[in-house]
Amino acid sequence: MRLDAYLDDLFTFIGSSPTAFHAVRNGAALLEAAGFRNIRTGESWSGLVPGGYYTTRNGSSLIAFFLRERSRSVPLRMAGAHTDSPGLKVKPLPLRLRHNCLQLGVEVYGSPLLASWLDRDLSLAGRVCWCRANGPLECGLIDCRRPVAIIPSLAIHLDREANSGRAIDRQAALLPLLLQSAEMPELHGLLKKEAAQIPPDAEILAFDLFLYDPQGPRRIGLNGEFISGPRLDNLISCHALLRAMVDTPHPENVLLVLNDHEEVGSLSETGAQGSFLRDVLGRLYPDQESRQQVLATSLLISADNAHAVHPNFPDRHDPEHQPLLNGGPVIKFNASQRYATGASGAALFRRLCARLGIPCQSFVMRNDLPCGSTIGPMTSAALGVATVDVGVPQLAMHSIRETAGSIDCQYLFKVLSAFFRIPDKELSAL
Ligand code: ZN
Repeated sequence: MRLDAYLDDLFTFIGSSPTAFHAVRNGAALLEAAGFRNIRTGESWSGLVPGGYYTTRNGSSLIAFFLRERSRSVPLRMAGAHTDSPGLKVKPLPLRLRHNCLQLGVEVYGSPLLASWLDRDLSLAGRVCWCRANGPLECGLIDCRRPVAIIPSLAIHLDREANSGRAIDRQAALLPLLLQSAEMPELHGLLKKEAAQIPPDAEILAFDLFLYDPQGPRRIGLNGEFISGPRLDNLISCHALLRAMVDTPHPENVLLVLNDHEEVGSLSETGAQGSFLRDVLGRLYPDQESRQQVLATSLLISADNAHAVHPNFPDRHDPEHQPLLNGGPVIKFNASQRYATGASGAALFRRLCARLGIPCQSFVMRNDLPCGSTIGPMTSAALGVATVDVGVPQLAMHSIRETAGSIDCQYLFKVLSAFFRIPDKELSAL
């Protein structure tokens, strides 16, 4: 696929995935179109014939696998990423009317760069659950798509210290304006207007709603060398994994996992510290002995964006480990195991890149700065599977709009696609 077409496809995926729920819905649609079958947890998995399947948990996490044969002697090429992004989540009782402005109470989800959320067109998306009189509970996705809210900052004249690095008050300063009204409207009525699938007589019982930046990703730079957009961390990786899963011709035994809640520590039903992947592997290989044999020779590539060196702040990186935008995927190392990469996984990843003529970079945090983490170490620890943490280099991680290199996104796809075809003996040799 040409780079332009790849980026168009990526931008469409990101633009239509304002929340983890939407990312999973879009991932499922991509897999369905490629012939993967949705296999539900309530079904029996014992008679699975070779082929492609996917399953979801709580609508925000997804596992897909393609098995040529279900044998204890065939390793799994595994790849993982996370579906969630830091941002602002609507509180259960969010409405507040002040000075004719209807505002929404929000919780901070994860660790966003808060200043980047001010004075920005914002939209609203997520999942809503409702029921009719005696009907069943139903849940559906909602996405306003257009800008419906804004969090105005305070004018410099009313806050002379604004440029002196004052912290943003997370309780008082983050309430967006939603509409102008002299009277308090009813929230459920407002939501029903935005979601045609909710019947007018239904009662909305609960929701998981998030604010997001409705301005899609764009190519930036005089030669289009950068991309700027929301949720690049970590939808670039989700997209590359999904595309590699559906576009790789004749893959070996392959599994991908997309987890929610990475930005808040991954300890949840759908997070990497939860049981989702363990449960799926337990059903694919119910016999403990076989499962251990498969995992002993398998490898997980955990893909989550990495910190490129910032030209304004090069001293925040170790002098010898300064990944460049468009310099190729980054292998992430950490002696304290905040990244799970070991020499064998790194060696295999480097070799894959070299074979494809793709450059490959290394990252280690400065000794005097704390290191972030991702789903790799948790999954590796829970399953006992060799893991390499990698990612596309980017700037402004956790800003409402992040910046990455145009070429790197497709590089990651190409390496994953090659990994999905790597012969058994190369994995078993690790
Ligand atoms: Zn991430």
